[in-house]
Amino acid sequence: MESIGVLMACPMSPYLEQELDRRFKLFRFWNFPQKKEFLRDNASVIRAVVGNATAGADAELIDCLPSLEIVASFSVGLDKVDLGKCEQKGIRVTNTPDVLTEDVADLAIGLMLATLRRLCESDRYVRSGSWKKGDFKLTTKFSGKTVGIIGLGRIGLAIAKRAEAFGCPISYYSRTRKTDSEYKYYPSVVELASNCHILVVACALTEETRHIINREVIDALGPKGVLINIGRGPHVDEPELVSALVEGRLGGAGLDVFEHEPEVPEQLFELGNVVLTPHVGSGTVETRTAMADLVIGNLEAHFLNKPLLTPVV
Ligand code: NAP
Repeated sequence: MESIGVLMACPMSPYLEQELDRRFKLFRFWNFPQKKEFLRDNASVIRAVVGNATAGADAELIDCLPSLEIVASFSVGLDKVDLGKCEQKGIRVTNTPDVLTEDVADLAIGLMLATLRRLCESDRYVRSGSWKKGDFKLTTKFSGKTVGIIGLGRIGLAIAKRAEAFGCPISYYSRTRKTDSEYKYYPSVVELASNCHILVVACALTEETRHIINREVIDALGPKGVLINIGRGPHVDEPELVSALVEGRLGGAGLDVFEHEPEVPEQLFELGNVVLTPHVGSGTVETRTAMADLVIGNLEAHFLNKPLLTPVV
């Protein structure tokens, strides 16, 4: 397989890079600032693209790669891959489901606890010596709060199970009601937001779900409500979120993803009721290794004419 050209869209995992390098003819796209010239000289040998949540395979790149057979994403979300184009051209697509579910759900619960109990703010309180001048203010209880989940898929369900263990009643919104679930279903995001304390975004990013968190939803969640986003940044209308937090129209937010990451609105840095993490939902050594192994397993299966491990298209 050493002669098979694999294009890695951006840096994502030194382990994955090393393992791809051992097996294939690996091209690191970021090492070639002159993209047009690079593609002119190498496109014909590139048979696979490896992308992630930052860079994948859009229509323009796919059109530049006449020998492309497979896009293997180092992520479960496929919003950076033009799935329609891949389907139309017979290009296979794989992602990394399941192996990251626990980590992302763990982080969602971590963000809920950190936001309501002000863990980051109280950590800063100790480090700055403020404790010597007086006790930290009282915070908000997490156990028993109603948790509303947008997208009861693999991650949404794992969050629900964890939150249930904290005594939290669970409700959800997705395109279809789950007949096998006893959680309360709301047929719209606004209704879900009106009836929960903590609203979690855990759905896929598509044209339909872009800005699924807008002013109306934020107002429905209200000054005691908390938004947790472990989905994708563009799920949230970020300027609306920032103004609601600054004006006190929303109680708080725990955010792992941002609309223009790694850019984060600086107004959020001043707010104690906001917890910010740098898109690290699946960011543990164990999970990133499992994701890398899945990417490699899918590529090897494809080029050995075996069934793909986690096919999407
Ligand atoms: P999944 O099992 O495919 O679940 C996706 C859910 O999205 C489904 O339950 C689906 O429900 C829902 N959905 C799709 N379109 C919708 C719409 N228009 N309105 C409402 N719900 C909609 O995927 P997963 O493994 O749980 O991953 C979910 C997402 O988490 C990924 O797509 C990714 O963006 C994000 N993620 C983030 C991180 C991170 O580091 N922060 C890590 C991994 C994943 P219905 O089909 O019933 O509508």
